[in-house]
Amino acid sequence: TVSQLETIKEEIKTKHVELLHLQFVDIEGTLKQVTVTAEQLDDVVEGETMFDGSSITGFTPINKSDLYLLPDLNSFAVLPWTEEADYSEARFLCSVTNPDGSLFEGDPRNILKKTVDEAKEKGFSINVGPELEFFLFEADDKGQPTQQVHDKGGYFEPAPYDLGERVRLEIYKTLKKMGFTIEASHHEVAQGQHEINFKFDDALTTADNATTFKWVVKTVAQQFGLRATFMPKPVFGENGNGMHVNMSLFDEKVGKNAFYDESDSRELSETAYSFIAGLLHHVPSFVAFTNPLVNSYKRLVPGYEAPCYIAWSSSNRSALVRIPATRGAGTRVEIRCPDPSANPYYAYASIAAAGIDGVEKSLQAPAETVDDIFSMSDEELEERGIENLPTTLGESIQALESGEIGKKVLGEYALNEYLSLKQDEWDSYRIAVTEWELDRYQAKF
Ligand code: GLN
Ligand code: MG
Ligand code: MG
Ligand code: MG
Repeated sequence: TVSQLETIKEEIKTKHVELLHLQFVDIEGTLKQVTVTAEQLDDVVEGETMFDGSSITGFTPINKSDLYLLPDLNSFAVLPWTEEADYSEARFLCSVTNPDGSLFEGDPRNILKKTVDEAKEKGFSINVGPELEFFLFEADDKGQPTQQVHDKGGYFEPAPYDLGERVRLEIYKTLKKMGFTIEASHHEVAQGQHEINFKFDDALTTADNATTFKWVVKTVAQQFGLRATFMPKPVFGENGNGMHVNMSLFDEKVGKNAFYDESDSRELSETAYSFIAGLLHHVPSFVAFTNPLVNSYKRLVPGYEAPCYIAWSSSNRSALVRIPATRGAGTRVEIRCPDPSANPYYAYASIAAAGIDGVEKSLQAPAETVDDIFSMSDEELEERGIENLPTTLGESIQALESGEIGKKVLGEYALNEYLSLKQDEWDSYRIAVTEWELDRYQAKF
């Protein structure tokens, strides 16, 4: 709107913003940007900034490479670490458009928007609150990350064991200035591991926030001479980095959380149970989005608070889907397999689509799993019908290809780009000869 633009212009003037970074993400969720001078603002908001789509992973072929950036005015933020007395920089997150002004079908933001719009037509808005974990590592004298964790603190330990407290404080201050509502932060289970939680919001805003969050955490860590990583399993034998996704549907017609029903024994609605059933039914076919790396599957093993079986529970942290105790407006499901290397736009879109498919088809949730799944024998798992999540990227690519969710959410074009990227990654890993193999086999055989 005009007034929103006027407010932005005002801030540009008072904060002496000289440069504008126009940001978007590629199909892996990796942040990209082109920088323009603030004098270009009027042209920029008209969507007149062109770039080469063929140089962005998964975008366009070389013969149709011109794409344009359309800034989302809601995402305007002055970058706190650039602010000086009479100078600063700001950014916009952008949607990608075709030369004729239509939305580019390969842009992850557009893809999530489409899922959000489809849910709106069915009477639901989607709320998402993610929990992103990360490690802080020391850097070497060339500035590269080492394998040396930054501290020896553990779960909920305070300083002086927690050496990351100042880093988290600076991340908090930075994000707060950029408009985030930060709710909590703590040292996580593994040495050098941390978590900072920001408030839930609608799915698109939250995917934008997750993208910004990862960028800010890495930027601030670097200011402390450290390197932050959201890699799912950076240290063998320790907890990995999760991105639990808390999701709820809001019923637009009655103006209430659609998962809450006080008359049910667990105070969950039919919609909630069917949403859970949809998640459990479709999860194998969307883990290639929520757990996109070869390394993601080294986190999904028993014993590290990450799920490896397809089950739900109202409290059990060994289950894939947990229902946090909050009820009323805060009633939600927590899906625990995603990790923070996921493209958040694809992750939230595919989770929502899976759950909503369950709602539309009135799928019935299986029995709740109250016992610790990690300690069940294979026979017990089979008796209860509890199946495994895919155990490799190769398996999850196959499930994505044969499942319904990928095509429904991404469409044919973007899905094929994603599948071929991931297939290449898996093939490259599959034929690599690793340190582990040489250690184990070279001398013996
Ligand atoms: N780090 C764990 C994971 O991999 C989660 C631990 C927790 O938040 N309780 O998902
Ligand atoms: Mg948490
Ligand atoms: Mg955690
Ligand atoms: Mg959690």
